[in-house]
Order: sequence, then C-alpha cells, then structure tokens
Amino acid sequence: MSHSITWIDWFLSQPYGQIFCRIDQEFLKSHLNDGDIISQFTNYKQAFDIVLSRSFRPKDNPRIENDAVNIYGLLHAKFLETEPGLRSILKKREETVFMKCPRYLCYKCTCIPIGIPSKFGKTGLFMYCPNCGDVYAPNDPVTRKIDGGYFGSRYVKKMLKSHPEITPNHEPEVHIPKIFGFDLAKAKK
Ligand SMILES: [Zn+2]
Repeated sequence: MSHSITWIDWFLSQPYGQIFCRIDQEFLKSHLNDGDIISQFTNYKQAFDIVLSRSFRPKDNPRIENDAVNIYGLLHAKFLETEPGLRSILKKREETVFMKCPRYLCYKCTCIPIGIPSKFGKTGLFMYCPNCGDVYAPNDPVTRKIDGGYFGSRYVKKMLKSHPEITPNHEPEVHIPKIFGFDLAKAKK
C-alpha cells in the first residue's frame, strides 16, 4: 500500500498551511536560483528539492524540512505580487478563509493577511481590512504565529491598486491612515 503526497499538498493541508496559496510549479522552478533566498539557507538545494518533491513523508529531516517551509514562505510573498498570486488571495478571501474585520461599521468586511514589517523572521502575521485600512492581530492563534515575511505588505499595495473592488463603500467608524508605518492612505491612491 503506497501513499504518496506532494510536499505542497502536505504543507497546504497543515493547520498553518491553510491560509497559504498554492504556488504553481513554474513559478517555483523559476526561482531555483533566486539569490535573495539562496543566501539565507545553508542547505538551500536540499530544502528546495523537498518543496518540489512529489512524494513526501514528514519527519525525515526536521531541520531541512523547516527550511523548506521558509523557502516556500519567502517565495509565497513574491508569488502574491504577481497577478495569479493576487487572484489566489482574492479566491481565498471569497472562500472566507480569512477573518472578518472586528469593527462594527465595516459590516464584516473580509480581511487579507499582511506582514508588518514585511521582513522574514521579524514578527507574526496581521490582518488588513480593506474597508477601514486598519490592521488587526489574527483571532486564530495558529495564524498569529505565521511569519509575516511569508506574505509581506507589497502585495497588499498592489492589490489595492489593481483590484480596487476589494474596498467596499462602507464609511468606516474611524479612519486611521498609518499603522506600524505602513502608509495605507498612499497605497490606496
Ligand atoms: Zn475594517
């Protein structure tokens, strides 16, 4: 009885993996020699092979498997900046994988994930509400522990520009244009 699962399917099925988008193989392979990412890992090639593996069984090598998650996460932030990436996040948002804005006058507007600061290894993930422009700590403790660098904030700025339909027309209760130095007012223009 053989039971084989690709690493990506395994990763996306984990409790912390469900918030991530599926990166297509072409995009992954086009970043095999990405200098920004290579320099951050000692066993880059081995870890990348895990990300691309078609038959994966966890716990063979936890340290390299952890690097595989980090590599996927860093490429995920880059992928979200592409049009297919933006569309994947919009699809997840429609499926309401993400939390709703807790602000009453945002009428349960669905948030999108944002990393503040964008840099990997700095902090956990926040949720950005396109209606009030504010950011919130995720209400789910698993999501709260995800590295903000796996999503970043650059894609959010792109999203507001290229998909303005995500911003509903409800007047938010209070408008706070700048949170954690992320210039949202500018990003919305
Ligand atoms: Zn809101």
